[in-house]
Amino acid sequence: MDLDALIRWLELFRDRVVADEERLTALDSAIGDADHGANMARGATAVTERLAAAPPATAEAFGTTTGMALVSTVGGASGPLYGTFFLRFGAAAGQVATLDGAAFASALRAGLDGVVARGRAERGDKTMVDALAPAVAAFEAASDDVPAASAAAAAAAREASAATAPLIARKGRASYLGERSAGHVDPGSESTALLFAALEEAVGR
Ligand code: ADP
Ligand code: MG
Ligand code: MG
Repeated sequence: MDLDALIRWLELFRDRVVADEERLTALDSAIGDADHGANMARGATAVTERLAAAPPATAEAFGTTTGMALVSTVGGASGPLYGTFFLRFGAAAGQVATLDGAAFASALRAGLDGVVARGRAERGDKTMVDALAPAVAAFEAASDDVPAASAAAAAAAREASAATAPLIARKGRASYLGERSAGHVDPGSESTALLFAALEEAVGR
């Protein structure tokens, strides 16, 4: 993947988040504070504006620009977590202009590790980690074929996000509801599913 593909990835993510803003907000209104759609639409729009204003020359710069934009514009729990994901992604990817599948997989893994270190959520806690962890694992398992790995990651994230519905939240705002958080899909796992759907589209054959 070259830098154009990375930027296209986040443009497609922005398109999906903006298109699904109301749906993400509806999910967050059920078990949170009804701002996840607005938070992510604002953040993803800022990301693409900054990538266009100062096109990165390395994957590291791509991650730094993206992560800083998310940290500074999203707010809420998800901003620092998605921001950390991309800051760590960039740091792991390093000062290169292209990433092969294995390098991309390593960068995704570093991003996931950063989210877990920052948010302390485990799988099953009904957070974005529930979608992110299986998506990264699916990408790793097929990383010698980037389009296939991306499709597998997107499917894994989509299925894992849907599977958050019956869970009781143990992290974030939804955890304040206790058992009443069950019966609703986690909004952050849905935005993560959109991130991997956008990746599949960006690298699709
Ligand atoms: P806020 O809850 O501050 O309003 P958002 O609504 O933008 O922030 O994001 C909520 C999402 O953030 C949740 O649906 C969940 O997926 C994710 N989240 C919250 N806390 C954590 C955490 N500790 N670790 C991982 N993800 C988390
Ligand atoms: Mg919220
Ligand atoms: Mg909020």
